[in-house]
Amino acid sequence: MSPRREVIGAGPGDGRPATEGLTSASATDSATDSASASASGSVSASATDSATGSESGSAPWRDAADDRVLDPTAIPAEAGFEANLRPRRLAEFVGQAELRERLEIVLEAARRRGHPVDHLLFAGPPGLGKTTLAGIVAAEMGAGLRVTSGPALVRTGDVAAILTDLQEGDVLFIDEIHRLGRAVEEVLYPAMEDFQLDIVIGKGPTARSIRLDLPHFTLVGATTRTGLITGPLRDRFGFVARLEHYRPEELEAIVRRSGWLLGVELTAEGAGEIAGRSRGTPRLALRLLRRVRDFVEVRGEGVVTLEAAREGLERFGVDELGLDHLDRMILETLCDRFAGRPVGLSTLAVSVGEEPETVEDVYEPFLLKAGLMMRTPRGRLAAPAAYEHLGLTVPPLVEAFVASELNGIAAGFPAPAGPRGGVAPTLFDR
Ligand code: ADP
Repeated sequence: MSPRREVIGAGPGDGRPATEGLTSASATDSATDSASASASGSVSASATDSATGSESGSAPWRDAADDRVLDPTAIPAEAGFEANLRPRRLAEFVGQAELRERLEIVLEAARRRGHPVDHLLFAGPPGLGKTTLAGIVAAEMGAGLRVTSGPALVRTGDVAAILTDLQEGDVLFIDEIHRLGRAVEEVLYPAMEDFQLDIVIGKGPTARSIRLDLPHFTLVGATTRTGLITGPLRDRFGFVARLEHYRPEELEAIVRRSGWLLGVELTAEGAGEIAGRSRGTPRLALRLLRRVRDFVEVRGEGVVTLEAAREGLERFGVDELGLDHLDRMILETLCDRFAGRPVGLSTLAVSVGEEPETVEDVYEPFLLKAGLMMRTPRGRLAAPAAYEHLGLTVPPLVEAFVASELNGIAAGFPAPAGPRGGVAPTLFDR
């Protein structure tokens, strides 16, 4: 099929905002500013590499991050690039329609009452827009935004310092909130509930506790692990929402919008190809867009067409299902090496040379969602679709397992969903 050369982004110098010139939603956070500086550094470094790269067939634009090109966790060097592309208002936020509608009501109700919004908890895999939503809540409420994370709040004094520095109505965003220590969490309880802070002054028998009034603020928590949030903390959030992976057409809209902001020329098919390989994750869509942009600048005509996107993504080891080198190694290990027998997580991790947590948190969620892998009480199995993708025959053991699962569902005893097993639904239609 010949690509339509209907160009979406028309390139720099056409009056569109220059990426580096956009202000960051989290501009109040100085960490973001320095990250932003380092990210612009990495953009120009990559451009220089590209310009001086040899034409010998090696990929001069490859960098260390390429080995993890499909790892959805944030990379510090990309912080500034991402911040510049973050939607600022709810209306610009693509997808998650149900969540958006509920959030709109919560925000509007708070605005009408003239009160800060209830504390909000956003849960879901990395790269789906939790940080972006925190910035949007602050912008929609005309409030200030303070950004921190669970691992950064080590001592109770850390959280006390942040809380006492807040202004009325501010949004305090705590990323990875499931990683807060117990003592820090206990400081948050009265702060969230009564906007009060209990401070202990002195030590030993002379120690005394004083209570400080805090401004009314909104705590926005983000977590990739809802199961690790303690009941008392969870109960203090007035609104809990789960972000789901995005549909290809939603990701395509994100790629087109980002291409426009970056001044990258994209055809509709080129944007669709990047979206289709982005594993339902906006962060990955943006990362792949950036890689393909580098590729077309060096090897192509500067326009992201279907062919250019395909060729560029293949160069970076991303196949048509959005699998990278390690995903394929995991599937090959399950299909080939263990010949369809269930494999435990640690054995699987050792076989592919990764940490069990990385396999479980980074690679498995997508393989399960894409219907390429199954988790059973006895271990991991590659699903029939994985055998097909690798051009292998499905072993009788796997066929029998799938048939028994389906029989269970037909008999009204659905296989347990999630970590304990079950045939995962397919993420994409194709
Ligand atoms: P998380 O906090 O869940 O890890 P982020 O909010 O940091 O994810 O999002 C990662 C990047 O993806 C951001 O730069 C943002 O520009 C983009 N993004 C995420 N969700 C959306 C969306 N719904 N619409 C447009 N861009 C999005």
